Amino acid sequence: MTPANIGQAINSLIAREGPIPVARYMELANRHYYATRDPLGAAGDFITAPEISQMFGELIGLWFADLWLRKESPANTHFVELGPGRGTLAADALRAMRGVRFEPPVHFVETSPVLRAAQAERVANAQWHDSFATIPARGPLLIVANEFFDALPVRQLVATHSGWRERVVARDRGRFVALPGSRPVDELVPDKLRDSPPGSILELAPAAHAVVTEISERLARQGGAALIIDYGYEGPAIGDSLQSVSRHRPVDPFAEPGARDLTAHVDFVSLAFAAGVKVVRVFGPVAQGDWLEALGLGERAASLAKAAPHRAEEILAARKRLVEPGQMGRLFRVLAVLAPDWPRPEGF
Ligand code: SAH
Repeated sequence: MTPANIGQAINSLIAREGPIPVARYMELANRHYYATRDPLGAAGDFITAPEISQMFGELIGLWFADLWLRKESPANTHFVELGPGRGTLAADALRAMRGVRFEPPVHFVETSPVLRAAQAERVANAQWHDSFATIPARGPLLIVANEFFDALPVRQLVATHSGWRERVVARDRGRFVALPGSRPVDELVPDKLRDSPPGSILELAPAAHAVVTEISERLARQGGAALIIDYGYEGPAIGDSLQSVSRHRPVDPFAEPGARDLTAHVDFVSLAFAAGVKVVRVFGPVAQGDWLEALGLGERAASLAKAAPHRAEEILAARKRLVEPGQMGRLFRVLAVLAPDWPRPEGF
């Protein structure tokens, strides 16, 4: 299907069933978008931390290896990544882990055939899964998700003069537009936000919560750790964070569904809460910049720059991009979920 066709498919869905919830629109548009291209890198639509520098994936690999070693190297431990993009983070993390003779089997949760092919080029012998449900049920799991949760569909609730409504996507004069639907949803709004002025938007992330709860349940049963990194906030809070980026520039999320990605900021408080319904320990969220520096990003950058003086400037620029507050350092947050009997993780 071309983006024009997915637009038509959404159009006829609306013609048949009436306006559709924003979450449904986001799900359909993103499924198409990721299934049909590699969106990453300078030539694509957006760039992510592992694509900026090998140091990102390496530090994540060492973070996992450290936990595994301190847990006395349990056999049968699996490495799992959700939404691995080009496989760059995993390749860098696995290389760092090999340095301490930790070579776990690799599992990728990825729905896009295009990105699966890119991942296969960088990581040999991975196993692919359509969802987290088929990840092995025995042995500790070391799970990482970078910029995965922001791509999962969010519901948007909007305040009107007559109460809160689900925000829906309709068709108006040949364009997709978002407006308040007819279904009252006041009971979903936390008390302290209920009186927000008309037009206020509250986002809920049931799909993200379902995945996190599933992860926690497995960690509680099987052991291991999960690391969730994304851009987000500490909610609940009013705000419309649905956004779309094309060739590194923000564009209207309701124009041309499927032609570019749709993301929403992750509410880390609600994610931590969803994790905490199982018997696990939750650490963070902390700012990505602080976390990376605590793990030794500065030292790693210095040693890489020393080993390759002609690349020193590029390496130091990458470090800045990952940690500076005005760049990725503060907006991005890191959350860890640990099995109850696993050691305390570094950096929190
Ligand atoms: N983690 C990578 C890529 C981020 S882009 C990086 O940091 O560079 C989002 C990734 O999540 C892509 O690999 C995309 O195909 C995948 N993805 C998005 N929605 C998904 C879903 N519902 N199920 C599985 N994978 C999904």
